[in-house]
Amino acid sequence: MLLIANAEGWPGIPTTVDLLRSGADSLAAMVAGIGEVEAETKVRSVGRGGWPNMLGEMEFDAGVMDGTTRAVGAVGAVPHTLHVARLAHEVMKRLPHVMLTGAGARRFASEIGLPQEDVLLPDSRRVWWERLEQELPPEALGRFPDVPLAPLLKAITDPERVRDTTVYLTADPRRGIHAATSTSGWAWKYPGRLGDSPIPGAGFYADSRYGAAACTHTGEMTMRCATARTIVLAMKLGHTLRDAVALAVEELRELREGFLGGVVIHAVDAHGQHQVTNFRCEGEIRYWLWEDSMPEPELRAAQTA
Ligand code: ASP
Repeated sequence: MLLIANAEGWPGIPTTVDLLRSGADSLAAMVAGIGEVEAETKVRSVGRGGWPNMLGEMEFDAGVMDGTTRAVGAVGAVPHTLHVARLAHEVMKRLPHVMLTGAGARRFASEIGLPQEDVLLPDSRRVWWERLEQELPPEALGRFPDVPLAPLLKAITDPERVRDTTVYLTADPRRGIHAATSTSGWAWKYPGRLGDSPIPGAGFYADSRYGAAACTHTGEMTMRCATARTIVLAMKLGHTLRDAVALAVEELRELREGFLGGVVIHAVDAHGQHQVTNFRCEGEIRYWLWEDSMPEPELRAAQTA
């Protein structure tokens, strides 16, 4: 059994490891761990600690994939709901659909008993408003939100500093290979913007026969390259894990126009190997690794592409 998760996933690692050790279903174990990440205010990119969109509203994205059945559940731009990884899991288990967004996702959350919550921290609201005050003249601030948002997007966006996701991957010869993600997305994003975290094939993908991948950072890059699916498909076509990730990095590198930014790729294969690769993100990127031979999960450094 192998678990990898990005560094931001720390609050949920003990729970997920305990559940995996006790033989729990892998996706249920990851969703339970991610629930703790979503509740942790110190994690400033997921759940309660995350940043709002340009209107000061929280909109969460999440996805889960069962690599054995290739069943997927995903939710995007969900308001007033903390535990969106669980919501995505319930979409997968209960509905004939793969993805729900916005008001429909919130409605389904109520149907399954997830409370409607005000998930914006007072501190996040303060930072958001101060950012707007810096950019908008007083007259426009007085009219806010009745102002065009698109021009503001360029001015107030600093995605390298204010975005991340939590991603968890598990691989086990008996229980299969699976993926789960959750995020508040790009801080100060245009309302309704979806990143890659709820998009199967871009932000996550799993196939128990070959492996899985999940990405953090610039969803605008991985959505254009279908990065997670590319890696798993490359392994299906006979590439090693290392070559499959190298191929996906090459595709990201080929992008020359549009919004460009860093990406971190987390990947596992069906032989118990894993690789975490930093493509153009500043600073040291780390991740959690736990294998059932290890007494405790370990924080490791990602490779640089
Ligand atoms: N990939 C996420 C998104 O684009 C955010 C992140 O991981 O930084 O929404």
